[in-house]
Amino acid sequence: MMKRYKFFSFTFLLIFMMSFPVFGQIQRDFLIDVEKQNVIINHLSGERAKDYVMRITRFNRIRGGGEGSDYNACVDYVEKELRKFMLDEVVVEKFRSDGFAEYLTWKSPVGWRVRSAKLYMVEPVKRLICDYSRVAVSLMPYSNKGNDEAEVIFVGEGKTERDYFGKDVKGKIVFATGGNGALVHREAVIKRGALGVIVGPSNRRDRYQYPDLVEMNRLSPTGEERNKAKWGFALSYRQTQWLKSFFDKNIKVRAKAIVDAELFDGNMPVISAVIRGKKNPEQEIIIMAHLDHYKPGANDNASGSAGLIEIARTLMYLIKNGFIDRPNRTLRFLWLPEMHGTMAYLNKHKDIGKRALAGINIDMIGEDYGKCISFFSVTHQPFSSPSFIGDVVKHFVEVISNIDLFEQRGKKYLMNYRFTGYSGGSDHVMFSDPTIGVPSIMIGHPDVFHHTSYDTPDKVDPTEMKRSVAVVTLSALAIANADNCSAYDIANLVSY
Ligand SMILES: [Zn+2]
Repeated sequence: MMKRYKFFSFTFLLIFMMSFPVFGQIQRDFLIDVEKQNVIINHLSGERAKDYVMRITRFNRIRGGGEGSDYNACVDYVEKELRKFMLDEVVVEKFRSDGFAEYLTWKSPVGWRVRSAKLYMVEPVKRLICDYSRVAVSLMPYSNKGNDEAEVIFVGEGKTERDYFGKDVKGKIVFATGGNGALVHREAVIKRGALGVIVGPSNRRDRYQYPDLVEMNRLSPTGEERNKAKWGFALSYRQTQWLKSFFDKNIKVRAKAIVDAELFDGNMPVISAVIRGKKNPEQEIIIMAHLDHYKPGANDNASGSAGLIEIARTLMYLIKNGFIDRPNRTLRFLWLPEMHGTMAYLNKHKDIGKRALAGINIDMIGEDYGKCISFFSVTHQPFSSPSFIGDVVKHFVEVISNIDLFEQRGKKYLMNYRFTGYSGGSDHVMFSDPTIGVPSIMIGHPDVFHHTSYDTPDKVDPTEMKRSVAVVTLSALAIANADNCSAYDIANLVSY
């Protein structure tokens, strides 16, 4: 009898242990019900998020778009996806973007659309050097239309008065090395009447090993400069060395540029989607990502934009199918044209600081550690914007890092993460500003391919995507559902 009892107890214990979720070393509920936590982690997909990344990278998403621009086409795509999920609200708000309109002291970019662009060497050899349809960043964003053939003048780095001394560049094409196409364009074209610029890469040492990488250079003309603005092409290091070799031998170079593009009165669309809270819908948690950037811009920031789609999709699925309850507070998802569009949005929604408890900005969340020489990074909110948000996110980073969480086609690296103090660079800056009043942190990764033609989808790791969206989702939900008991947990985190 005793033996049988023991056998049954053992069997019962085994079944009981097996009924525990596979995930998780955290044994008690902390901020979030452990069972719900595992359901959420289980349903979020880094593979699916990467699929959204690949779709978004098809668009050249330069902010200050407008009708006919690739940016607005991408907004249409994301909006269409979101409408499939039956979210409580999906709204697209458009803000004037013509180089003149100003939002909270930030000037809007000029609207830009492009159909094609090619750069040829005509003399001493005939060769197609750049083609927008092959490598989008080889055409500098905000290039104006042009059909120009002229002699090419080499001006060194082309950034200072001295570089142009004794050189007449009016009516000529200017070639410079050393990056910063916007500055070269301003000096050569706007100030000195050149027809256009060809610019080699900056001298970043960590990029010496990628001779075919092309850096992104925005021309960014103001409204006043709009009519004077011409075109710009960006070269790789190898192309730059080849072109410079003719000047080293004193051989005359002629080039021809055909650019079918225009600067116009555009607009910046902001997509806002909502999962409404059931108890305190007037209180919000903001999750944001900038949708804009050059093509492909896989990690920066198709990854954040795609992650946001994946989070909204998964949460709505879990709510609709009864896996989790609707959160107590509202979750607002924002796809923003970084900085400029964010200022336009905040200028319109000045009450956001009263409604929103905290913000999470996801910018570059899918980096393959090995390929991108990278790690998972949390940038805290500034001291001028005190909040528990950084501590809550830090807690969930540690939870996720303790779980063997790998995607089928993802990398099997262990999670490598760091927490850093406040620094700028993206939209958490605007939200955290005390005059706006939404304490916001940023989740991202450093990346050697940032703002280059090499920021391609193969650098996006589904495992890291899954970890990132899991940290964001759990943190946002924990705050959205925080009650008196969680106040004790949060106080513990903050004081630790
Ligand atoms: Zn970014």
